Amino acid sequence: MANINQGKHAVTMAQVSKWYDDFQVLRDITLTVDHGEKLVICGPSGSGKSTVVRLLAGLETHQEGTIKLYGQPVDAQGRGDVGMVFQQFNLFPHLSVLDNLILGPMRALGMPRQEARDRAMAYLERVRIPEQAGKRPGQLSGGQQQRVAIARSLCMDPKLMLFDEPTSALDPEMIAEVLDVMEDLARDGMTMICVTHEMGFARRVADRIAFMDAGEMVEVDPPEIAFSAPKSARFAQFLDKIL
Ligand code: ADP
Ligand code: MG
Repeated sequence: MANINQGKHAVTMAQVSKWYDDFQVLRDITLTVDHGEKLVICGPSGSGKSTVVRLLAGLETHQEGTIKLYGQPVDAQGRGDVGMVFQQFNLFPHLSVLDNLILGPMRALGMPRQEARDRAMAYLERVRIPEQAGKRPGQLSGGQQQRVAIARSLCMDPKLMLFDEPTSALDPEMIAEVLDVMEDLARDGMTMICVTHEMGFARRVADRIAFMDAGEMVEVDPPEIAFSAPKSARFAQFLDKIL
Protein backbone atom coordinates (compact mmCIF):
# COMPACT_ATOMS: atom_id res chain seq x y z
CA MET A 1 0.00 0.00 0.00
CA ALA A 2 3.00 2.25 0.43
CA ASN A 3 2.99 3.39 -3.17
CA ILE A 4 -0.56 4.72 -3.16
CA ASN A 5 -0.42 8.35 -4.05
CA GLN A 6 -3.48 9.96 -2.54
CA GLY A 7 -4.76 12.75 -4.68
CA LYS A 8 -3.57 11.15 -7.88
CA HIS A 9 -6.12 9.65 -10.17
CA ALA A 10 -6.50 5.92 -9.68
CA VAL A 11 -7.02 5.48 -13.41
CA THR A 12 -6.09 7.70 -16.31
CA MET A 13 -6.90 6.58 -19.84
CA ALA A 14 -6.03 9.11 -22.52
CA GLN A 15 -7.11 8.61 -26.13
CA VAL A 16 -6.84 4.84 -25.91
CA SER A 17 -7.55 2.90 -29.07
CA LYS A 18 -7.22 -0.82 -29.59
CA TRP A 19 -7.57 -3.12 -32.55
CA TYR A 20 -7.92 -6.87 -32.98
CA ASP A 21 -6.28 -7.20 -36.40
CA ASP A 22 -8.22 -4.66 -38.47
CA PHE A 23 -11.25 -4.57 -36.14
CA GLN A 24 -11.18 -1.49 -33.91
CA VAL A 25 -12.55 -2.56 -30.53
CA LEU A 26 -11.85 0.69 -28.62
CA ARG A 27 -12.04 4.18 -30.10
CA ASP A 28 -10.27 7.05 -28.44
CA ILE A 29 -11.27 6.29 -24.84
CA THR A 30 -10.47 9.04 -22.36
CA LEU A 31 -11.42 8.45 -18.74
CA THR A 32 -10.17 9.32 -15.30
CA VAL A 33 -11.27 7.61 -12.09
CA ASP A 34 -10.42 9.11 -8.73
CA HIS A 35 -9.05 7.18 -5.78
CA GLY A 36 -12.11 5.98 -3.83
CA GLU A 37 -14.47 6.49 -6.75
CA LYS A 38 -16.99 3.87 -7.87
CA LEU A 39 -17.57 3.78 -11.62
CA VAL A 40 -20.18 1.57 -13.27
CA ILE A 41 -19.70 0.76 -16.96
CA CYS A 42 -22.71 -0.35 -18.98
CA GLY A 43 -23.52 -0.73 -22.65
CA PRO A 44 -24.63 -3.30 -25.19
CA SER A 45 -22.89 -6.64 -25.65
CA GLY A 46 -19.78 -6.26 -27.80
CA SER A 47 -19.33 -2.55 -27.03
CA GLY A 48 -15.88 -3.04 -25.49
CA LYS A 49 -16.62 -3.05 -21.74
CA SER A 50 -14.62 -6.19 -20.97
CA THR A 51 -11.78 -4.96 -23.12
CA VAL A 52 -11.52 -1.78 -21.02
CA VAL A 53 -11.33 -3.66 -17.72
CA ARG A 54 -8.98 -6.27 -19.16
CA LEU A 55 -6.64 -3.47 -20.24
CA LEU A 56 -6.74 -2.01 -16.73
CA ALA A 57 -5.98 -5.44 -15.30
CA GLY A 58 -2.97 -5.77 -17.58
CA LEU A 59 -4.51 -8.75 -19.38
CA GLU A 60 -4.48 -7.06 -22.80
CA THR A 61 -2.37 -4.52 -24.64
CA HIS A 62 -3.47 -1.51 -26.68
CA GLN A 63 -1.98 0.24 -29.68
CA GLU A 64 -2.68 3.96 -29.15
CA GLY A 65 -2.97 6.29 -26.19
CA THR A 66 -1.83 5.95 -22.59
CA ILE A 67 -3.14 4.09 -19.55
CA LYS A 68 -1.89 4.86 -16.06
CA LEU A 69 -2.87 3.49 -12.68
CA TYR A 70 -1.90 5.78 -9.82
CA GLY A 71 0.36 7.64 -12.20
CA GLN A 72 2.26 4.55 -13.31
CA PRO A 73 2.02 2.29 -16.35
CA VAL A 74 -0.19 -0.76 -15.82
CA ASP A 75 2.75 -3.15 -15.97
CA ALA A 76 4.52 -1.27 -13.17
CA GLN A 77 1.84 -2.24 -10.65
CA GLY A 78 2.76 -4.63 -7.87
CA ARG A 79 1.20 -8.08 -7.93
CA GLY A 80 -2.27 -7.88 -6.52
CA ASP A 81 -2.56 -4.10 -6.71
CA VAL A 82 -5.44 -4.57 -9.13
CA GLY A 83 -8.06 -7.17 -8.21
CA MET A 84 -10.38 -8.56 -10.84
CA VAL A 85 -13.60 -10.51 -10.46
CA PHE A 86 -15.00 -12.20 -13.55
CA GLN A 87 -18.37 -13.56 -14.55
CA GLN A 88 -16.91 -17.05 -14.13
CA PHE A 89 -15.44 -17.39 -10.69
CA ASN A 90 -12.14 -19.01 -11.81
CA LEU A 91 -11.58 -20.76 -8.49
CA PHE A 92 -9.32 -23.82 -8.31
CA PRO A 93 -11.83 -26.70 -8.06
CA HIS A 94 -9.45 -29.13 -6.37
CA LEU A 95 -8.54 -26.76 -3.52
CA SER A 96 -10.61 -25.84 -0.49
CA VAL A 97 -12.03 -22.35 -0.26
CA LEU A 98 -9.39 -21.46 2.31
CA ASP A 99 -6.57 -22.82 0.14
CA ASN A 100 -7.89 -20.84 -2.84
CA LEU A 101 -7.62 -17.72 -0.69
CA ILE A 102 -4.14 -18.27 0.78
CA LEU A 103 -2.47 -19.26 -2.49
CA GLY A 104 -1.99 -15.72 -3.87
CA PRO A 105 -0.72 -14.10 -0.68
CA MET A 106 1.71 -16.99 -0.02
CA ARG A 107 3.01 -17.39 -3.58
CA ALA A 108 2.91 -13.82 -4.89
CA LEU A 109 3.39 -11.83 -1.70
CA GLY A 110 5.53 -14.35 0.23
CA MET A 111 3.19 -14.21 3.20
CA PRO A 112 3.63 -16.87 5.92
CA ARG A 113 0.85 -19.49 5.93
CA GLN A 114 -0.63 -18.57 9.30
CA GLU A 115 -0.86 -14.89 8.41
CA ALA A 116 -2.41 -15.76 5.05
CA ARG A 117 -4.97 -17.99 6.82
CA ASP A 118 -5.85 -15.27 9.32
CA ARG A 119 -6.31 -12.78 6.52
CA ALA A 120 -8.36 -15.24 4.46
CA MET A 121 -10.68 -15.96 7.38
CA ALA A 122 -11.14 -12.24 7.99
CA TYR A 123 -12.22 -11.75 4.37
CA LEU A 124 -14.48 -14.81 4.45
CA GLU A 125 -16.21 -13.18 7.45
CA ARG A 126 -16.50 -10.02 5.45
CA VAL A 127 -18.21 -11.81 2.54
CA ARG A 128 -20.31 -13.64 5.14
CA ILE A 129 -19.28 -17.25 4.51
CA PRO A 130 -16.60 -18.15 7.09
CA GLU A 131 -18.36 -21.49 7.66
CA GLN A 132 -17.54 -22.54 4.06
CA ALA A 133 -13.75 -22.33 4.48
CA GLY A 134 -13.14 -26.09 4.36
CA LYS A 135 -15.37 -26.87 1.38
CA ARG A 136 -14.41 -27.17 -2.26
CA PRO A 137 -15.83 -24.56 -4.66
CA GLY A 138 -18.08 -27.17 -6.31
CA GLN A 139 -19.91 -27.69 -3.01
CA LEU A 140 -20.93 -24.01 -2.90
CA SER A 141 -23.73 -22.16 -4.64
CA GLY A 142 -22.84 -19.76 -7.45
CA GLY A 143 -23.41 -16.77 -5.20
CA GLN A 144 -21.13 -18.24 -2.53
CA GLN A 145 -18.45 -19.03 -5.13
CA GLN A 146 -18.54 -15.47 -6.41
CA ARG A 147 -18.17 -14.18 -2.85
CA VAL A 148 -15.14 -16.47 -2.46
CA ALA A 149 -13.73 -14.97 -5.67
CA ILE A 150 -14.21 -11.48 -4.25
CA ALA A 151 -12.56 -12.49 -0.96
CA ARG A 152 -9.68 -14.02 -2.91
CA SER A 153 -9.05 -10.70 -4.66
CA LEU A 154 -9.27 -8.80 -1.38
CA CYS A 155 -6.66 -11.10 0.19
CA MET A 156 -4.12 -9.52 -2.17
CA ASP A 157 -4.86 -6.10 -0.68
CA PRO A 158 -5.71 -4.41 -4.01
CA LYS A 159 -5.96 -0.65 -4.33
CA LEU A 160 -8.37 -0.97 -7.27
CA MET A 161 -11.08 -3.60 -7.79
CA LEU A 162 -12.42 -4.42 -11.25
CA PHE A 163 -15.65 -6.38 -11.70
CA ASP A 164 -16.75 -7.72 -15.08
CA GLU A 165 -20.43 -8.67 -14.95
CA PRO A 166 -19.95 -10.46 -11.61
CA THR A 167 -23.62 -11.41 -11.27
CA SER A 168 -24.61 -12.23 -14.83
CA ALA A 169 -23.91 -15.96 -14.50
CA LEU A 170 -25.91 -16.23 -11.26
CA ASP A 171 -29.44 -17.38 -10.63
CA PRO A 172 -31.65 -14.42 -9.70
CA GLU A 173 -31.89 -15.33 -6.02
CA MET A 174 -28.11 -15.16 -5.66
CA ILE A 175 -27.55 -11.81 -7.31
CA ALA A 176 -28.46 -9.75 -4.26
CA GLU A 177 -26.01 -11.50 -1.93
CA VAL A 178 -23.12 -10.68 -4.27
CA LEU A 179 -24.26 -7.10 -4.85
CA ASP A 180 -24.60 -6.65 -1.06
CA VAL A 181 -20.97 -7.67 -0.59
CA MET A 182 -19.90 -5.26 -3.34
CA GLU A 183 -21.92 -2.51 -1.73
CA ASP A 184 -20.19 -3.13 1.63
CA LEU A 185 -16.86 -2.86 -0.13
CA ALA A 186 -17.91 0.40 -1.77
CA ARG A 187 -19.00 1.80 1.58
CA ASP A 188 -15.58 0.93 3.02
CA GLY A 189 -14.02 3.24 0.42
CA MET A 190 -12.65 0.77 -2.15
CA THR A 191 -11.94 2.21 -5.59
CA MET A 192 -14.17 0.15 -7.90
CA ILE A 193 -14.88 -0.16 -11.60
CA CYS A 194 -17.86 -2.44 -12.20
CA VAL A 195 -19.19 -3.59 -15.54
CA THR A 196 -22.79 -4.42 -14.70
CA HIS A 197 -26.33 -3.95 -15.89
CA GLU A 198 -27.67 -4.03 -12.33
CA MET A 199 -28.98 -0.50 -12.43
CA GLY A 200 -30.35 -0.60 -8.86
CA PHE A 201 -26.80 -1.24 -7.71
CA ALA A 202 -25.55 1.53 -10.00
CA ARG A 203 -28.07 3.97 -8.55
CA ARG A 204 -27.10 3.15 -4.96
CA VAL A 205 -23.34 2.84 -5.35
CA ALA A 206 -21.97 4.54 -8.45
CA ASP A 207 -20.42 7.98 -8.34
CA ARG A 208 -20.58 7.95 -12.15
CA ILE A 209 -22.00 5.71 -14.84
CA ALA A 210 -20.17 5.26 -18.12
CA PHE A 211 -22.07 4.19 -21.21
CA MET A 212 -20.17 2.40 -23.98
CA ASP A 213 -21.37 1.67 -27.49
CA ALA A 214 -19.41 0.33 -30.48
CA GLY A 215 -16.01 0.85 -28.84
CA GLU A 216 -16.70 4.41 -27.73
CA MET A 217 -17.25 5.74 -24.25
CA VAL A 218 -20.27 7.76 -25.30
CA GLU A 219 -20.92 9.54 -22.00
CA VAL A 220 -19.99 9.41 -18.33
CA ASP A 221 -22.53 10.87 -15.92
CA PRO A 222 -23.43 10.95 -12.26
CA PRO A 223 -26.43 8.61 -11.70
CA GLU A 224 -28.90 11.46 -11.28
CA ILE A 225 -28.08 12.62 -14.82
CA ALA A 226 -27.83 9.14 -16.32
CA PHE A 227 -31.23 8.08 -15.03
CA SER A 228 -33.14 11.28 -15.69
CA ALA A 229 -31.47 13.13 -18.53
CA PRO A 230 -28.94 11.07 -20.51
CA LYS A 231 -27.26 13.30 -23.07
CA SER A 232 -27.14 10.91 -26.00
CA ALA A 233 -30.04 9.20 -27.74
CA ARG A 234 -28.03 5.98 -27.73
CA PHE A 235 -27.79 5.93 -23.92
CA ALA A 236 -31.46 6.85 -23.55
CA GLN A 237 -32.48 3.99 -25.83
CA PHE A 238 -30.23 1.56 -23.98
CA LEU A 239 -31.71 2.54 -20.60
CA ASP A 240 -35.23 2.25 -21.99
CA LYS A 241 -34.47 -1.35 -22.90
CA ILE A 242 -32.90 -2.46 -19.59
CA LEU A 243 -34.83 -0.48 -16.96
P1 ADP B 1 -18.38 -6.36 -24.08
O1 ADP B 1 -17.69 -6.75 -22.83
O2 ADP B 1 -18.92 -4.96 -24.06
O3 ADP B 1 -19.46 -7.33 -24.47
P2 ADP B 1 -15.87 -6.99 -25.36
O4 ADP B 1 -14.90 -6.01 -24.84
O5 ADP B 1 -15.83 -8.37 -24.81
O6 ADP B 1 -17.33 -6.38 -25.29
O7 ADP B 1 -15.68 -7.16 -26.93
C1 ADP B 1 -15.80 -6.05 -27.81
C2 ADP B 1 -15.64 -6.53 -29.23
O8 ADP B 1 -14.35 -7.05 -29.43
C3 ADP B 1 -16.63 -7.63 -29.59
O9 ADP B 1 -17.06 -7.39 -30.93
C4 ADP B 1 -15.79 -8.87 -29.55
O10 ADP B 1 -16.26 -9.85 -30.44
C5 ADP B 1 -14.41 -8.38 -29.94
N1 ADP B 1 -13.35 -9.16 -29.31
C6 ADP B 1 -13.18 -9.35 -27.99
N2 ADP B 1 -12.09 -10.09 -27.76
C7 ADP B 1 -11.56 -10.38 -28.96
C8 ADP B 1 -10.41 -11.13 -29.41
N3 ADP B 1 -9.58 -11.72 -28.53
N4 ADP B 1 -10.18 -11.20 -30.74
C9 ADP B 1 -11.01 -10.60 -31.63
N5 ADP B 1 -12.10 -9.88 -31.27
C10 ADP B 1 -12.37 -9.79 -29.98
MG1 MG C 1 -18.05 -8.32 -21.54
